[in-house]
Amino acid sequence: MDDSEKIDIRVLTLSQLRKIFENKGLFSYRADQVYNWIWNKGVHSFDLMTNISKESRSLLNLNFEINRIKFDITQKSSDGTIKNTVRLNDNHIVESVLIQTKNRRTASVSSEVGCSLNCDFCATSKIKNIRNLKKDEIFDQVFLMNKQSLNYYKKPLTNIVFMGMGEPLMNYNNVVSAIDKITHPSFLGFSPSRITISTSGIPKLIKKLADDGVKTELAVSLHSTRKKIREKIMPFTKKFPLETLKESLVYWQNKNRKILTLEYIVWNLINDLKDDVNSLLEFCKGLNVKVNLIEYNSIDNDSFQQAKNSVIELYKKELSKSNITVTIRKSRGKDIDAACGQLANKSNKFFNLTE
Ligand code: SF4
Repeated sequence: MDDSEKIDIRVLTLSQLRKIFENKGLFSYRADQVYNWIWNKGVHSFDLMTNISKESRSLLNLNFEINRIKFDITQKSSDGTIKNTVRLNDNHIVESVLIQTKNRRTASVSSEVGCSLNCDFCATSKIKNIRNLKKDEIFDQVFLMNKQSLNYYKKPLTNIVFMGMGEPLMNYNNVVSAIDKITHPSFLGFSPSRITISTSGIPKLIKKLADDGVKTELAVSLHSTRKKIREKIMPFTKKFPLETLKESLVYWQNKNRKILTLEYIVWNLINDLKDDVNSLLEFCKGLNVKVNLIEYNSIDNDSFQQAKNSVIELYKKELSKSNITVTIRKSRGKDIDAACGQLANKSNKFFNLTE
């Protein structure tokens, strides 16, 4: 069997792997040990699996491979944020970011090579969507950033956000399978409440998350609740009217009883009027939400400029008056293009930690 015919072992479930071991006349508990090496210890070579018999290791080497990702370039921002250029097994590139704040170390992971959506204000949307990431490629980003966090910050990750390249719900199955592995007590054992899926709002799939019992937090990039404006800045939303989006959020919240986060950027001459604030307040009715007003990181598009502070303060004041928690989020990693909406494979012009 040549290498191209080998199966990536991580596509197999544990019971499939046990069956293969049994069929080859090997003890099925060996499959559990192998599974532990690949999903708990992050080992990428069968030869390093020291408690596995030689016979089993030869069988594994003959039939399987373990695809791996690699952090090609690692850059550190002046605020301590770390951006990784991630090389996938087939040489495609995505990016992931490790952000340290006072009490948190958050890994922002990518879910697609490029993005299948077309938000006008986002650098990633300018990259052609090539493919979805596989569950192991998502898992490995978290695994490696956990090691990186221990190395640079001397503490493990506390949070994970699906806020890197791509729309996570457009890669639903792989994202949810990766979360299964990340949260499984025998593997990374991460609490689902410390994981946030950040979506631009795909109603059918938000409902599916609720129906499938995915217990992560949910954040929605809203940016405008006025139909024409939202459709202009996020053209894909023409297919998903705001009423349908709201209905899906109510549905999700009825099943989850968790606070929902609304991500919102305020731009000059786009959504900086009192009408925009009022419309947002109306949208929030009937939902238990907190609103993050996010600082905008400009990309090469003059149409989008961060609104004046006075407008952001107006949003904050009006939302607070309605008892909605509001946070003004300062961007991290701006000097290395690692901030929200800036990920576009532009590494190599800043300080490179891997050299
Ligand atoms: S904002 Fe998110 S969903 Fe929209 S294009 Fe960028 S990466 Fe894709």
